[in-house]
Amino acid sequence: MKSSRDLIAEYSLTPNKALGQNFLTDASAIERIVSAAAEPGLSVLEIGPGLGALTFPLAEAVKKLVCVELDSALCGILERELPVNASVINADFLKTDIGKISEELGGGEIVAVGNLPYYITSDIAMKLASSPVGIRRMVLMMQREAAARFTAQPGDRNYVPLTVLSRLRFRVSVLAELSPASYFPQPEVSSTVLVFDALGSKLPADLPRFLKAAFSMRRKTLINNLAALGYGKEETAAKLKSLGFDPSVRAEALSPEELLSLAEAL
Ligand code: SAM
Repeated sequence: MKSSRDLIAEYSLTPNKALGQNFLTDASAIERIVSAAAEPGLSVLEIGPGLGALTFPLAEAVKKLVCVELDSALCGILERELPVNASVINADFLKTDIGKISEELGGGEIVAVGNLPYYITSDIAMKLASSPVGIRRMVLMMQREAAARFTAQPGDRNYVPLTVLSRLRFRVSVLAELSPASYFPQPEVSSTVLVFDALGSKLPADLPRFLKAAFSMRRKTLINNLAALGYGKEETAAKLKSLGFDPSVRAEALSPEELLSLAEAL
């Protein structure tokens, strides 16, 4: 199995900073991520495979693997080097249809894994967390600051719609904390690997829109933010009261479960 460093030298590549290309070179982190992602019997979607640091060992451990990579030069290399149970789609993950990828993977539940490009971490996580496709588990590596959004508590600065949505769908835990020395080239920041285990919850399809509105102006009350989306102020106030909250409360004071129950009631 060739390492990312071997492939960079063999193909005379220059990592593309704008695409967040910091390749993972830490063997023990690679092993931990692969064993967390390799659920028996499940197929895997990998976002941003790069030069295959996770892809090659994953392909050995799982039934089927589909990767989505934006950089066409890296896709060409992976196509030449990957085994037959793994394939790569040259596309922007934010523009792909996860439903189609899941069909390509056999149509059942899948695992999503990725050392995510830092510049679109939240967008990728939002797309995964709001996808109707059955995702049993996600193993995602991201900047430490981005990871704080998934572990934030009500009232924290980092408590945002993504926190609420991901925690209603998944139990989130920290698998590893990595320093810049785990990558080539080295980034300026530290990273965290999070594991998201599906809770099996069924959420209203328009919950992402509801949450976006509820948090839209952080200094405004929840009632005023929701009024902009067309929810009656009196109705919202009555439901808040029944949950034990003052009508002047802001969205960030409510737990994920309280926000869900408000969304369902309204
Ligand atoms: N998985 C590899 C590893 O761990 O060494 C590479 C991780 S690197 C941090 C992020 C990867 O995501 C790069 O290969 C980059 O080209 C790719 N990428 C960047 N933007 C992307 C996008 N919009 N869709 C898919 N892949 C993207």
